[in-house]
Amino acid sequence: MTCLPQYGPAPRRACARVRVGHVDIGGDAPILVQSMTNTDTADVAGTVGQVAALARAGSEIVRVTVNTAEAAAAVPRIREQLDRMGVNAPLVGDFHFNGHRLLTQHPACAEALAKLRINPGNVGRGSKRDEQFATMVEFACRYDKPVRIGVNWGSLDPELIARMMDENARQPVPEAVAVITRRALVASAIDSAVLAEKLGLAHDKIVLSCKVSGVQDLIAVYRDLAARCDYALHLGLTEAGMGSKGIVASTAAMGVLLQEGIGDTIRVSLTPEPGGDRTREVVVAQEILQTMGLRSFTPMVIACPGCGRTTSTFFQTLADRIQSYLRAQMPDWRGRHPGVETMNVAVMGCVVNGPGESKHANIGISLPGSGENPVAPVFVDGVKTVTLKGDHIAEEFQAVVDQYVRDKYPAIERSGRVERVSA
Ligand code: SF4
Repeated sequence: MTCLPQYGPAPRRACARVRVGHVDIGGDAPILVQSMTNTDTADVAGTVGQVAALARAGSEIVRVTVNTAEAAAAVPRIREQLDRMGVNAPLVGDFHFNGHRLLTQHPACAEALAKLRINPGNVGRGSKRDEQFATMVEFACRYDKPVRIGVNWGSLDPELIARMMDENARQPVPEAVAVITRRALVASAIDSAVLAEKLGLAHDKIVLSCKVSGVQDLIAVYRDLAARCDYALHLGLTEAGMGSKGIVASTAAMGVLLQEGIGDTIRVSLTPEPGGDRTREVVVAQEILQTMGLRSFTPMVIACPGCGRTTSTFFQTLADRIQSYLRAQMPDWRGRHPGVETMNVAVMGCVVNGPGESKHANIGISLPGSGENPVAPVFVDGVKTVTLKGDHIAEEFQAVVDQYVRDKYPAIERSGRVERVSA
């Protein structure tokens, strides 16, 4: 008899739970969405604006680069301004090369950050390496901050990889270079974590990541990492690329790992198109988790692809309009209407699958295809409630969605009064 694979993702791998600001990574905490700014951190106003935009889009942790004295000095001011704006997303400082010096000269930077990211391949060479790594870990301990030890394929510790390659070359049957490189990534992360613990950093103050740019490499590296330690893991494909390529590569790699219960926080490292919106990476990360059934962030719109049975683009416009509307409402709805993020809305192009798919959704509309009677039945919790027609189908359908939210996810009391949703 053939054994069918289990339905749904494997149970999350057991790991330490790490407190980062007011959120947790690992343990039984939800898988968090992270992002990173691309502003000059020394530009306080620009960085505050982008962190706020990323946080509003749903980024639960935001990383900023700390590469210069000006950037390190700016971090406390960025934190203060965000706090004044009510943006509480924890900030992570990304340190390379001179992190030990910046933290020594700007201790307020360490204090303002919720987590430090240290790349063990970029902390120094030779005898300086361990000393500079130790300085950064000491700052984390002094200010009670967790650390992500973030190894990267593009900046792997050259001494470690050289030593492992030499050892491999002396074997009777040497293994492929790619195998040794993947092994070196994992060794760098785990050895650095062990060293950090010896320096006094608690086990539950450490998150690991091993980022590579190839899908199969990422899967292999994280399977190995997950099997060899119980540190919380940050997943991400580095340099994923632009547009659909970056989205597909990130989804393919992280989808496999998340399905296997591996990964406690994710980032989708998209290269923004010129003039593109940095928050796209947050939306994609949320959509990966939500479409896999791992978390719910915003109501989902199910739409058919369209075909020769519907020549009108009206249903595409309506699907886009409803999706944009729902996402725009979420900052307001999230606190007031708990559960609304699990709502499904179907927008379908014709009678073939329209009524059936609409009945499966919380709310669905089946638009008329070519040659069909120009009416659009609306289904609420599987029951046809109204048939829309005329020039205002979009507005009327949006009103149905608003009413459903008010009825099914009642407004909760806040500050002693009932919050209302504007229609
Ligand atoms: S629901 Fe209708 S319009 Fe949409 S893909 Fe199916 S047949 Fe085509």
